[in-house]
Amino acid sequence: MTTGSQLDPAESAADSSPRAATQPGEPGLLAALSVATKAHLLTGADAWRTSGCADIGLRPMVTSDGPSGVRGTTKDERKPSASLPCPSALGATWDADLVYRLACALGREARSKGVDVLLAPTVNLMRTPLGGRGFECFAEDPVLTAVLASAYVRGVQQAGVAAAVKHFVGNDSETGRWVYDARIAESVLREMYLVPFEACVREAGAQLVMAAYNKVNGERMTENVRLLRDVLKHEWGFEGVVISDWGAARSTLATALAGLDLAMPGPDGPWGAALAQAVADGLVPGELLDDKVARLLRLARWVGALLSAPGATTDSHAATDSHAATDSHAATDGHAATDGHATGPVLADPRLLRHAAAASFVLLRNAGGILPLDPRDVTSLAVAGPNAVRPTIQGGGSAGVIPAQISTPADALRAALDGQAAVSVSLGCQTFEALPDPPAGSLRDPVTGQPGVWLEFVGADGSVLAAESRGSANLAWWDGVPAGIGWGEPGTIVLSTLFRADTTGLHLLGAAGVGRLTLSADGVTLADAVTVRPDDPVQAMTRPGEVRARLWLDSGTETKLRLEFRPAPDGEGPLAVRLGIALAADDDTLLAEAEAAASAADAAVVVIGSAELTESEGFDRSTLALPGRQDELVARIAAVNSKTIVVVNSGMPVLAPWADQVAAILYAWLPGQEFGNALADVLLGTAEPGGRLPVTLPAAEADCPVLHAVPGQDAILDYAEGLLIGYRGYDANGVTPKYPFGHGLGYTTWTYESIDCPPSVSAWRDLEVAVTVKNVGTRPGKEVIQAYLAGPGAEPDQGRPPRALAAFAAVRAAPGQTARATLTIPARAFARYDQLGGWAWPGGRYVVQAGTSSRDLPLSAPVLSAPPPLGG
Ligand code: BGC
Repeated sequence: MTTGSQLDPAESAADSSPRAATQPGEPGLLAALSVATKAHLLTGADAWRTSGCADIGLRPMVTSDGPSGVRGTTKDERKPSASLPCPSALGATWDADLVYRLACALGREARSKGVDVLLAPTVNLMRTPLGGRGFECFAEDPVLTAVLASAYVRGVQQAGVAAAVKHFVGNDSETGRWVYDARIAESVLREMYLVPFEACVREAGAQLVMAAYNKVNGERMTENVRLLRDVLKHEWGFEGVVISDWGAARSTLATALAGLDLAMPGPDGPWGAALAQAVADGLVPGELLDDKVARLLRLARWVGALLSAPGATTDSHAATDSHAATDSHAATDGHAATDGHATGPVLADPRLLRHAAAASFVLLRNAGGILPLDPRDVTSLAVAGPNAVRPTIQGGGSAGVIPAQISTPADALRAALDGQAAVSVSLGCQTFEALPDPPAGSLRDPVTGQPGVWLEFVGADGSVLAAESRGSANLAWWDGVPAGIGWGEPGTIVLSTLFRADTTGLHLLGAAGVGRLTLSADGVTLADAVTVRPDDPVQAMTRPGEVRARLWLDSGTETKLRLEFRPAPDGEGPLAVRLGIALAADDDTLLAEAEAAASAADAAVVVIGSAELTESEGFDRSTLALPGRQDELVARIAAVNSKTIVVVNSGMPVLAPWADQVAAILYAWLPGQEFGNALADVLLGTAEPGGRLPVTLPAAEADCPVLHAVPGQDAILDYAEGLLIGYRGYDANGVTPKYPFGHGLGYTTWTYESIDCPPSVSAWRDLEVAVTVKNVGTRPGKEVIQAYLAGPGAEPDQGRPPRALAAFAAVRAAPGQTARATLTIPARAFARYDQLGGWAWPGGRYVVQAGTSSRDLPLSAPVLSAPPPLGG
């Protein structure tokens, strides 16, 4: 039993995998391999590649992070990526076809970069709005997540790139993610957290599943026999590869026996020779080892990594530790075309990204129909807010890419209104935690004269081991640095650059990295200090300590800056170093400037939200409040301009204490590289804001069903709320959200005309419901019709939600026209997971409710769920 046809809305995407997910094993190839070689193949060759084996024509497979872009195997400004709207934005589209199209483009980009496996999508649920990786998830609801994640998997795999669905399971927050033990009732796992994984595996044919860092019910997920072997592999029939999250395999036997197939990264790790020995000692059955290798070979066959002529790669067992493979994939650093065309990377089309961003924007409020702006009414526009100038286009951590380009709201609105309105731009306040990258064009490499920095790897004896010119002062490496440089190594990484200030004044300089940082200007040491080692290894890249200095600089004058970084002796994770620079500004002045500009303009657009380090992998947020003095900024602008439009640039919920004082609120998520262009389209009415909330926005922190996810004693993280996360919890607790799940206005208005629902549904059958809506506004538009199912047993003491999303569909209609959507409510929506007996069909009286959000459901129809036939 699966979630049924509900999970297959993207008809165009159906059966899109180029090769079936399950293929016969590779007995012939297996027989040619020794136990040692088999064990060797099951650990990565380096940070991103699997091991190859020339004897059987197996080349290494290249993995790369997603989900909102394909970074490739390096973080390198010379190899940029298309930057997509983050997954919570994709969740807001409620549009599986659009997600499918984006994922196809992502898959093509991955293929063109030599990537075989995309480490995406993230299908955990937004259990708490503070979750650091919430932006990487689609929704707080499992059905919405399952539908969109399946479309994502199909799209990526359509391009011949395997998708690794992550993080299986219970990695719904970041605090203590390496150690916490999520205690989740079986029924809650089945009805909530496993639902998207099940859909991606059973409906969309995902090739890989990534086992998470955390424990679930006492067992590490890489060692979880019950969930990996019994549920995923046996019950769901998963024939693909279970890959560890990076560094999550921390034992030899328990991981091998539980069903982990591939330990990443390598070449070190708990398997290798130890696994071969365990097989020799009879502790791990040989058939189990064979099963893992067979899965790996099936994946290799699927992505085209099993070459027809054995011996065609030099990346033999013996050679895997060097990077000596000669096949095109392995030799290209994951960045060259491998499908036979030497055309280079093919990045996703910016027009598609722009369309998708606009389709994800959620119009929460539009008092007096102020939006779309009529350029005839606006001859002057005040654009304000830190994110108008320096938007946060993506979240932090492994999902981050180097964007091919960035369209900022300030630039895009200026361009769109050129010749029509005077546009002023003011920062309003500062929100950065770490100093931002220096403005484009302000750095010059002193050696080549090119924009950027001169980078040197310097050995302990002072000799330069390697050097190159780089276009960025924000650098990270997972591997590939010269020997003698790295955690616990004596060498240093040195950046030299000439900085030209564009304003005379006091500047703040920040040197960031985990280790010792020495910063000098024109030969004078400004700072020399050691930063603290963070708790989570990924923070070495996302949130390293920063050493700061202040320096008076004259506009137009170049200052020679030198940053020396010696990585910490006990550091972990990617090596990262960064130089940040900003004019030391005073918030009182910035606020006053923005207020004055807004009071002089016809309308104000205030772009606020997360700063670069607000939302990231590796840590959760501590508050839902906006960083810095942004609330004050909005309130002050709203007080002087009645046409204040607030754009929220955050991947997850924030508090909006000013919500009722402003004319319009547009939620823009972390929209990727096309932010500004898409925003101009929506504000000026070229595009309709197409989004609906995939997550509830609370009025106050205390209203959230689950707020902080901080593990307690023995690192236990108790999912005591059971099924009641997100809107389910608000409904059960009788709490009114600020803006409910599913809410979002377009530029036209709709009435809900009728619902057509059969009076009963037989056991284990889907139910088809037709809903008719009418566009009673003046513009053509899109409406997302949502159907919820209210079932028996929703009394508060039963722990069941009053209603749950069961199906949805988007329709479009011209003014005055009606549209009818047929929604398929899957049988699973009527089922319950019984702790003892598995999936059960309880039968009883249900009500189908249809409308615009979880709190606006004007249509309803009763449906009797027939009890199963006796013995059935
Ligand atoms: C993250 C994964 C990611 C992996 C490789 C881990 O820290 O949890 O999502 O795919 O690193 O970057």
